[in-house]
Amino acid sequence: MKITRITVYQKDLPQRDPYWLSGGRLRFDVLDATFVKLETDLGITGWGEGTPWGHTYVPAHGPGIRAGIETMAKAILGQEPRALDHVERAMDLCLPGHLYAKAPIDMACWDIAGQAANLSLADMLGGLSEEGTWIASSVSSGEPDYMLGIIQTYRDLGYKVHSAKVGGDIDRDIARIRHLERNRLPDERILYDANRSWTRREASIVMNAVADLGITVEQPGETLDDIAAIREITTTPISVDESLVTLQDGARIARDGLAEVFGLKINRVGGLTKARRLRDLALAHGIQIYVMATGGSVLADTEAAQLAQTVPLAFRLGTWACQDMLTEDVAPGRGVRNTNGKLTVYGTPGLGVAPDEGRLGEPIADYRI
Ligand code: MG
Repeated sequence: MKITRITVYQKDLPQRDPYWLSGGRLRFDVLDATFVKLETDLGITGWGEGTPWGHTYVPAHGPGIRAGIETMAKAILGQEPRALDHVERAMDLCLPGHLYAKAPIDMACWDIAGQAANLSLADMLGGLSEEGTWIASSVSSGEPDYMLGIIQTYRDLGYKVHSAKVGGDIDRDIARIRHLERNRLPDERILYDANRSWTRREASIVMNAVADLGITVEQPGETLDDIAAIREITTTPISVDESLVTLQDGARIARDGLAEVFGLKINRVGGLTKARRLRDLALAHGIQIYVMATGGSVLADTEAAQLAQTVPLAFRLGTWACQDMLTEDVAPGRGVRNTNGKLTVYGTPGLGVAPDEGRLGEPIADYRI
């Protein structure tokens, strides 16, 4: 089987509410999504999506995905889509780095491979477990009661896991964390995500001030060096998210004990082909995992849910349903949907969802053999 055509769509996905990341320093209200359709000479079609969480979250932006695909198109066309490591190598040779631009191509290849094998992505990735995955909400930063109000709206949707964004003024952060923990329900878990916004000193002050609460903090510093330094002077468990990009990053975190949790975002690490190695690395080192998209539609959520559902329950902390934060749906009624706070895939071959092409508008690029 050969990839014969790549069709690229751009679509704006408006958010239900404006979103403030880490102490209000970053605000956005629309996501720039790229959808990719791969066609093959055997008539099997695969879909991929790349939707960065704004362009200020990590080094990724929508136009970069489209430019990357334009650069890589010649190397992708003609590839056997089921030879996932070969496609990965071809993309890495043709365009070093730019992992987020490769993730939608990788996703579409997995979709084709799964359909050809009549297996779900979860089964292709090692085996679908029956249990669905708890969805973590993404709670925009603000005053303590504002944040508790957002958590309540997600409780009403069945959510039991929340990722509350902190960072900024450290006295307010301590107050936010104590307030949310005081009001946390017994069966709930809240991850406190600083999104790189603390200095080493600030992280140390906040994390040591709330050390009695048994919480976990995500990405307390900018880099892995910062996190290593913060690890030395704090005891609060750490999740690494933005600084977990390559397999080498994962190996360093695991070997040096820099964090107890991986925030595994499929687009950031370059797709499922690379994400599955990070999953295995985490499992081999007693590290628990959140598996998420960086953002996007039900397609991105479904890809994350497929990988999440291969992670043993003891290690699986949650996933995300970015779709619940958007006003547009590109595949109504299909793909994974929130059911009592969980996303569950059921073994449909391939990714298990394709968009309505009519909802994507006209293609912005079309590459053929
Ligand atoms: Mg995070």
